[in-house]
Amino acid sequence: MTLLHKLALDLDKQDKLSIFRDEFYFPEDSPIYLDGNSLGLLSKRAEASLLASLEDWKRYAIDGWTNGENPWFYYGEKLSGLKAPLIGASPKEIATAGSITSNLHQLISTLYQPEGTKTKILTDNLAFPTDIYVLESQMKLKGVNPADNLMKVVSSDGQTLNEDRIIEKMTEDICLILLPSVLYRSGQLLDLNKLTKAAHERNIIIGFDLAHSIGVVPHQLHETGCDFAVWCTYKYLNSGPGGVGGLFLHEKHHGTEPGLTGWFGSDKSKQFDMSHTFTPADDASAFQLGTPHILNCAPLQGSLEMFQEAGIATIREKSLRMTAFMRKLFSELKLLDDRIEFITPEEDHRRGGHLALSHPDAARICKDLKTRGVIPDFRAPHFIRFAPAPLYTSFTDVWETYQVLKSILESKSYERFSNERNVIA
Ligand SMILES: *Cc1c(COP(=O)(O)O)cnc(C)c1O
Repeated sequence: MTLLHKLALDLDKQDKLSIFRDEFYFPEDSPIYLDGNSLGLLSKRAEASLLASLEDWKRYAIDGWTNGENPWFYYGEKLSGLKAPLIGASPKEIATAGSITSNLHQLISTLYQPEGTKTKILTDNLAFPTDIYVLESQMKLKGVNPADNLMKVVSSDGQTLNEDRIIEKMTEDICLILLPSVLYRSGQLLDLNKLTKAAHERNIIIGFDLAHSIGVVPHQLHETGCDFAVWCTYKYLNSGPGGVGGLFLHEKHHGTEPGLTGWFGSDKSKQFDMSHTFTPADDASAFQLGTPHILNCAPLQGSLEMFQEAGIATIREKSLRMTAFMRKLFSELKLLDDRIEFITPEEDHRRGGHLALSHPDAARICKDLKTRGVIPDFRAPHFIRFAPAPLYTSFTDVWETYQVLKSILESKSYERFSNERNVIA
């Protein structure tokens, strides 16, 4: 046994989170799942909370809204309470609803108030496409031309962003800023505190897309003081395909009229008065729209209970150890193939939950990995992301992935596959 293999086994022995692994279902023939940053695995607890919701429907029908262990009328608020410790917010600052896309539409329509010469939105040229689509359509709805008003900080290396360069772009004509907490390709973690402070000194509203950090990187959103945030729950939070999203609106904005209103944003005691006059909830719940998709909220409950038990600080600690271990192992592969490049920053405080590599044959290396029981994540044009999920990935999995990758690179067996991406990649 090599020293590094032994190290993996030792790290697994010390791992307090290893007890959670058996609670997850792994895909057939794929014991190593490193794609939890795209779609987390199903756990027995998520399955159980979904079945419990179905059971409530069976037993109570319409009365399920107010009866049973988890009355559906208050379910969103219950889930918000469970998420609060993950992001350092008060439950009242969170709404559990919609998707990143719909929640961004909601918050940008609410907080983007162009006035005089302060009309611009600042984002970055590596942003996830849906975020850009939302910003452009919200600008158009306010009569502002995105071509002159949507400003993108340009990454100097094509992979990462420099906070000081972002701050330089916070000019007087910027009205709102939207940035990722963790960049979805490179896995770079931005300094939310520094960016928020700089934005507020310049009287600019700032918010973050937490898609790649919620559930793996702790945040202190309330204390940070950022104005808003959005996230999905089907990545690190394992809520299932299309699982319900969420939004954070800092307490200081409560009472602001939602840009988009719907009856589930009502004060709950007034909602069923059926009045044509909207009486909003006095907190972030006011930003919900229609009837919550209960069956797609339900798996999140079981899943979040595991995050509560594990604790986000312990999760982060294991995540950092796993990605550092992976980097150490994969660095050896550079000797075999010098076209491998790490694009994730090396320092702990600048790294989210995954490790990303670039390689000209990335697409077919991923296909080869999949035939050998390792599921990574490909991102066009030539990136491979490896996301070890602290609740269900072991250090031995990381070590085995290294062995498989080594064999693939040594034999060049990936040349059997075409280097094209599939429809979803
Ligand atoms: C996954 C992801 C999304 C997806 O948005 P949905 O509305 O949930 O489909 C948006 N932004 C980022 C950065 C993502 O990684």
